[in-house]
Amino acid sequence: MEYGLLAETYARAEATAKRLELADLVKGLLEETPVDLVRPVIYLSQGRIAPDFQGIELGLSEKLTIGAIAGVAGVQEKEVVTKRNELGDLGSAAERLLSKKSQATLFRSPLTVESVFAKLQDIARTAGTGSQDKKLKILRLMLSESEPYEAKYLVRTVMGKLRLGIQDATVLDALAAMITYGKVETVTEMDEETRRRREEAKAALEYANDVSSDLGLVAETALKAIKEAERRLSGETEEALTGKALEAVKQIRLTVGVPLRAMLAERLSSAEEIVDKLGGKAALEYKYDGLRIQAHLDDKGTVKLFSRRLEDLTPQFPDVAEALRGAFEGKEAVVEGEAVAVDAESGRMLPFQAVSQRRGRKYGITERAEASQSQVFGVQEGVARRGAEKITEIPIATYLFDVLYLDGEELIRTPYEERRKRLAAAFDETARVKHARLEVVEDPAALESFMQDALAHGAEGIMAKSLSGVYKAGNREWQWIKYKADYVEGIADTLDLVVVGAFHGQGRRKGWYGAFLLASWNPDDARFETVCRVATGFDDQQLQELRERLEPKAIDVPPKDLFLKLVEKPDVWLEPELVMEVSGAEITLSPVHSCAWGMVRPDAGLAVRFPRFTDRLREDKGPTDTTTPDEIVALYQRQVKVTGQATAE
Ligand code: AMP
Repeated sequence: MEYGLLAETYARAEATAKRLELADLVKGLLEETPVDLVRPVIYLSQGRIAPDFQGIELGLSEKLTIGAIAGVAGVQEKEVVTKRNELGDLGSAAERLLSKKSQATLFRSPLTVESVFAKLQDIARTAGTGSQDKKLKILRLMLSESEPYEAKYLVRTVMGKLRLGIQDATVLDALAAMITYGKVETVTEMDEETRRRREEAKAALEYANDVSSDLGLVAETALKAIKEAERRLSGETEEALTGKALEAVKQIRLTVGVPLRAMLAERLSSAEEIVDKLGGKAALEYKYDGLRIQAHLDDKGTVKLFSRRLEDLTPQFPDVAEALRGAFEGKEAVVEGEAVAVDAESGRMLPFQAVSQRRGRKYGITERAEASQSQVFGVQEGVARRGAEKITEIPIATYLFDVLYLDGEELIRTPYEERRKRLAAAFDETARVKHARLEVVEDPAALESFMQDALAHGAEGIMAKSLSGVYKAGNREWQWIKYKADYVEGIADTLDLVVVGAFHGQGRRKGWYGAFLLASWNPDDARFETVCRVATGFDDQQLQELRERLEPKAIDVPPKDLFLKLVEKPDVWLEPELVMEVSGAEITLSPVHSCAWGMVRPDAGLAVRFPRFTDRLREDKGPTDTTTPDEIVALYQRQVKVTGQATAE
């Protein structure tokens, strides 16, 4: 299969933000894809080469990529940088520079998906001494074989910046249409029978994706099965063929040791709204201020811990693993909880910053120390050694709040109420393992009093959960609603935003950055949108560390996928990578920030007024995991509803 077909689809995907159109593009692409290439095509279209949990990352450095482009285009690296500055991204620079060159080249055999995928895997897997040279060689070879328009996407892919906005739900829509022999359309356009079949297919595909966290596997299984059924059962009805495909999809089960994507919470800012939203009855839990952990306990006694981003946290938290094993009565389980640092003597909960120290990567310096040390000791060893020093210093208690699997039984579609019962029966409470505090309420006053209780005990608020809610991996639905204390001071919640620029400090802050330009990722339009400039909440040490950490990320022009309305440009543009948590007084209409542009009012975006860094870097979030423009609109509207008027910046 020619890579050019993929690149053409990408170009069309870039030109649209409509989900249905995207799903239709994906469907068209998959129809052209031989079954044994479905997995690579899915991974590549989402800018990766394997499911996230495998931790295989591309992310080649900009320097190396520039070197490769220069080599292939036969120009100086300087010229590549100039082109990038002129065009805004390295992919477009590669396309332009190679197109000059390619007129001279007469014949070349087309680049295939197979070879691109294999070479990208080689790049990702090459490690150790001399690996940079080897990666450079592979990339150069690949670029020399590619057409200019292909080079554009290859460059973005190797740098981990493809970002086409093809989300899991989009691919699932395409697959559901394919295996039910329909077209991509909204459910309202379907007749009742079509809708029923489509929803059944979608539910099965979604479930398989939830338990496997591997969209490539789900797509391959579904399409392989339908093709096979068509071949073997000619003459059968379409419905029977669909049935065969669904049977195969339903064979995909949860595997202990393979993490599920974390379910996420919505937010509301009043007790009434929460009780109302949950149908008059809500299960309340403390919202613990720590690190989310998904623990997999297998029947051999091994425990693996995963972060919200599906990274393996076991080396940093061997004590948590051991404590969970000790508290578990059964053989196999997958549970979720919040790991919270506690005071070694009193057992009192400590704020988030303490547990993040145990994670050993609060700010840039620590991270670099970790990297240099890991070269000497090997990653795991280095981390584990430092971990051991911190274990006694900062003990952790894990507050369990969910169970997804128990001794052979998948529980993700079991109602929450039942899951909590099963959790309580399977895990004992010990000094280091607790059940998240739980109370069921039916009126707002009781919710408020539980909130006060939570805050008094050092929690950051409460989580209200639907008693009948199921576990939807990676989804933000109204089954879980967070309610935090911050709204008393301002906005109903903190925002997680990615740093895209910085302003030089003045006076005492000279030599550091004194303020940062923050943005929100808009998954629908696949772009970053600016939200505010934050200058408060940092201490000197943090500013120094942030400078050291961010300086290497500086670029000369705004990031390619940044949507800008700003007049006052930052002194330095930064690759969107680091996510910060900020609070603020309110969300206001803004003529200069592009967040949710035109969604509330024509020619206006939304901004955070009086933003403040909350002392929390969201290391557990990537640049595309920020609070979204939609969520910011919701915060704005709620505020307007409460105060009864809109404010302008
Ligand atoms: P946020 O990151 O502010 O969107 O809030 C969601 C996070 O709260 C989850 O990812 C967990 O890490 C954390 N959390 C703390 N306590 C709970 C709880 N009882 N249930 C679910 N999540 C919780």
